[in-house]
Amino acid sequence: MNAVIDSVDQAAGKAADKVAYENNKLHKRLCRLVGQAIGDFNMIEEGDKVMVCLSGGKDSYALLDILMTLRERAPIHFEIVAVNLDQKQPNFPDHILPAYLEQLGVAYHIENQDTYSIVKRLIPEGKTTCSLCSRLRRGILYRVADELGATKIALGHHRDDILETFFLNMFFGGKLKGMPAKLMSDDGKHMVIRPLAYVKEEDTERYAAVKGFPIIPCDLCGSQENLQRKQIKAMMRDWEKKFPGRVESIFSSLSTVVPSHLMDRDLFGFTDLQADGQANPLGDIAFDEEPCATPTTGAGVISLQRGD
Ligand code: SF4
Repeated sequence: MNAVIDSVDQAAGKAADKVAYENNKLHKRLCRLVGQAIGDFNMIEEGDKVMVCLSGGKDSYALLDILMTLRERAPIHFEIVAVNLDQKQPNFPDHILPAYLEQLGVAYHIENQDTYSIVKRLIPEGKTTCSLCSRLRRGILYRVADELGATKIALGHHRDDILETFFLNMFFGGKLKGMPAKLMSDDGKHMVIRPLAYVKEEDTERYAAVKGFPIIPCDLCGSQENLQRKQIKAMMRDWEKKFPGRVESIFSSLSTVVPSHLMDRDLFGFTDLQADGQANPLGDIAFDEEPCATPTTGAGVISLQRGD
């Protein structure tokens, strides 16, 4: 009997070790990816005061948590201040964030602004409220950043948000435009950063569950989730299942743009383009057939493919 109990205990112990190991791996991966994005885009510099916008959703909790870990390890000194904008949506549980932030021991500020009533007053029933709501929120957050002396404004958008925006702009807006990892505000006064730019949503979801973040539901305003974004999300989830690596590849293409092979005449001087007689041995060969797989092998064939 004791032997059976021992073996059950051992199995439970091993399972718990495996879970702890996976959770630790996830934490390390998040720190690595966030650190990499910060470095690649020079998001945070010595002496910065980073205002982390906290909505109460899984992504912004994960952002704050990982930035706090990185601050401990970073060779530079920077400050963090968490900011939540309480938009006075019905049933917003306004005690949750202050309690969480107190217990975390991070500097924080709760900004109370009733944008909910403004939006409800100005937007007719049944129309989408998000665009006015986000505009109001943006203005308030810029003002709060000034008041707090924040030099960077960090948002919790992740890789999948960036890709969804990219597809939305392409499918419905006719633009090749994503969501930048680092952005100067229109008035030129604020620097917005997205340190989760390399992180998959799946990872912030898991991390939020592991850490038990006190999530606040995001549908309190009563607005329906954007249908087009929902479709794009479903499309990407389907690709992840059926074609592993496709989404990753599309994401990496956002950092490897070849203006000469697109059609934007402002980005590349097509109209003035002239043959200059200079061969480019490193031209576009990514999708060339391997020479051995080409039916007619010969320098002429290969060089033609390079000019595709
Ligand atoms: S979902 Fe609600 S809170 Fe969020 S931007 Fe839209 S209207 Fe504003």
